Amino acid sequence: MELCLICIGDELLKGATVNTNMAFIGECLLGIGVIPKYSLVVPDTRQPILAALDHAFANADVVITTGGLGPTADDITKEVVAEKFGRRLNENGEIAVSLQHYWNSLKRGPMPSRLLNQSLVPDGADVMKNSCGTAPGLHLSGDPLKNGSVKHIILLPGPPAEMRPMFKEQGIPLIQSLVKKPLHAELLHVVGLGESVIEDRMIPVIAGHPNLSVAYCASPEYVRVFLTSPDQEFLHHKTREVMDLFKGELFLPGCKSFAEELLTLLKRKKSKLAVAESCTGGIIAQRMTDIPGSSSVFNGGVVAYANEVKTAVLGVSGELLEEYGAVSAECAAAMVEGVCAKLNADAGIAVTGIAGPDGGSVHKPVGLVYAAVRFNGQTIVRDFHHRGGREQIRHRAASSAMNLLRRLMLGLETP
Ligand code: ATP
Ligand code: MG
Repeated sequence: MELCLICIGDELLKGATVNTNMAFIGECLLGIGVIPKYSLVVPDTRQPILAALDHAFANADVVITTGGLGPTADDITKEVVAEKFGRRLNENGEIAVSLQHYWNSLKRGPMPSRLLNQSLVPDGADVMKNSCGTAPGLHLSGDPLKNGSVKHIILLPGPPAEMRPMFKEQGIPLIQSLVKKPLHAELLHVVGLGESVIEDRMIPVIAGHPNLSVAYCASPEYVRVFLTSPDQEFLHHKTREVMDLFKGELFLPGCKSFAEELLTLLKRKKSKLAVAESCTGGIIAQRMTDIPGSSSVFNGGVVAYANEVKTAVLGVSGELLEEYGAVSAECAAAMVEGVCAKLNADAGIAVTGIAGPDGGSVHKPVGLVYAAVRFNGQTIVRDFHHRGGREQIRHRAASSAMNLLRRLMLGLETP
């Protein structure tokens, strides 16, 4: 089965909105072993939408669109698709009633009539419920090119908050039902290693197997390794081999970030975490508190940016700062011990470094970061040399420090 994606919206072409829908849909599809043949981005204009539909239907059996399902005059996706399939639009009573209920709940007076545009459904279309907004999704099949071949189209709303649950819960099962020869997919998160090191290490496992494809995707926290194959048992076997290659460098099952992994480990060990952040300015605390339920293990953090705060709040001595400087292994160790004592925690992370673009020197260049972590009465410190701009360095510093605590807790690091 071939699949194409069409993202519709003037704002995408003007750069006013980043096309995150494509990324989300691509990732969900990969999970069921489907890789889109290509994706097009077109404005909310009839001719380009028709041209994109022609192109996509000539190349694929299934087409997904996002955007342009709203009630305003610029939202024309449904009308143009109905025209292409030669279908009329009829009001769907059930949708009209639920739109009215939704509007009444807002207590904003009479409902504008244009909102009812969203209850218009092409003849023969299946409706996909929108649990987070008003514009329903649609699934239509027919012969849009009038050449005897049956094509499917799935119309999704543009707002990511509405599109995502609809696609995951209703779109993906629908596409799975259309796939005749499914590809199976496995996803592994490898941490603390670069893409090229991972690729090299994988060669003995994957070379000479045309049945198996591998794709890598790097981010500041980890490298995602996607394995796909039409043979599920073979894929399973190869995935186990890859997992053996990266023991200690894979997240625990079910964890997709350092914060989730630390939360799991801290719960397991009944430990409490405190963080002291200088150059990361709260990134680690934010990542921890992004996860619901982190209050059970995360006591809190101190953003100790100025030396006075390192001294007054964390108890880092003036002499230590004088002798070694704020960006030093000694300072990082004193910060983690100080924050654990202050915030009554038995696990800790401290980060101090030079995020740039200024402030570097020959001995302490931009990108030099010291991370200190503490667990079970042991403190360890490591230095890291990160590359990139300020933002990348800060995020990489947070990741490497979180990874260091993870490794200490798993018994993979010794002082
Ligand atoms: P509505 O008009 O009711 O909000 P809609 O289905 O017509 O829904 P659009 O008007 O196309 O959707 O877009 C609505 C919002 O969704 C806009 O804020 C837009 O920036 C965002 N959006 C649209 N397409 C994408 C996309 N591909 N990626 C990320 N955001 C998008
Ligand atoms: Mg739009």
